[in-house]
Amino acid sequence: MTATVLVTGGTGYIGGEVIDRLLARDYTVHTTVRNKAKSEPKLRSRWAGAGERLKVFQADLLSDEGWAEANAGCSAVAHVASPFPLRVPKNKDELIIPAREGTLRALEFATAAGAQRFVQTSSAAAIAYGQPDKDHFTHLDWTDLTAGVPPYIESKTVAERAARDWVAIHAPDLIFCSINPVAVFGPVHDDDMSTSVEIVKKLIDGSIPLIPNMGICVTDVRDVAEAHVRAIEAPAEKVRGERFPTSEKFLWISEMAAIIRQRVPEHAGKVPHRAMPNWLVRVLALFLDEMKQIKSELGNVRDVSGKHTEDVLGMRFIPAEETLDATIRSLVAKGIVKV
Ligand code: NAP
Repeated sequence: MTATVLVTGGTGYIGGEVIDRLLARDYTVHTTVRNKAKSEPKLRSRWAGAGERLKVFQADLLSDEGWAEANAGCSAVAHVASPFPLRVPKNKDELIIPAREGTLRALEFATAAGAQRFVQTSSAAAIAYGQPDKDHFTHLDWTDLTAGVPPYIESKTVAERAARDWVAIHAPDLIFCSINPVAVFGPVHDDDMSTSVEIVKKLIDGSIPLIPNMGICVTDVRDVAEAHVRAIEAPAEKVRGERFPTSEKFLWISEMAAIIRQRVPEHAGKVPHRAMPNWLVRVLALFLDEMKQIKSELGNVRDVSGKHTEDVLGMRFIPAEETLDATIRSLVAKGIVKV
């Protein structure tokens, strides 16, 4: 009989992919959602054959209700749920409180129920920010919060730090590690997409008329999920206390546009060709929130290496070209983008 694993945030892009892999490997999966009545039918239709091997529990990161039931009988937890909104909230606590308190709540209930392993979905946001003189990063780097960073970046950094501190004090025997993905793309399953996929969607649906001078690291959702499962299955001594960035490569948005034109020319008709001057980004940032985020990234290289993860977990990441190809084909196939 295989083990039972709790995946928090089963409605999410990454959470769904982790569930997918676990079910394919014969695990029994418990998952938490915020609204069971709304979300369970969707999850059941995606994994129609899972039957009793998938159990859905209602639990919010901000409340104790439902967490004991969700953790009962689970030997491992993949704690994926955390707010990842497209827009920057007015009050940063809207992100920081659920990220931090939700992680501590998940840890407390997991250890109380006897889980031996806990994999936290952290982020490259906890690695590569607040260090203006650096452009290459590894699992050993930490975002410097004293420099002042956007709320989402702060929420992921605070949550990972809090988890590690809590484990050191309250559960030193727990096999804890984090997965730290960069921007996640790859096949989508419905129009309830992650914020990261919106970037590619906007590149092909014509809503970005000019290419800003910014770049991002790319990772594939299938690799992110595989890293979670390998972190659950690997010998304890390989993963205890580790950080596992998943990152295939850094790409300028102009390079992403070129890859899209080359790989999926039939869907690339609206992909922009011309550069957006930095002065224009700065002017638009006076009025538009999204431009404010782009302004702070102009010209920045944040190249996070995934080599450590490939070495320790024995993975070979999917090339970014294939990831972008799969993202776009699924967006079009599901009717999410009409090109
Ligand atoms: P997503 O599709 O938006 O999923 C977020 C999940 O968190 C959803 O299941 C959401 O539930 C849940 N959630 C949010 N607030 C909650 C709350 N108060 N209580 C309970 N559940 C809550 O985003 P994703 O890309 O899969 O992100 C999943 C994790 O990966 C997050 O921790 C994110 O920080 C991390 N991550 C993502 C990326 C990326 O590029 N996508 C990169 C690095 C790290 P609802 O469906 O009810 O909203």
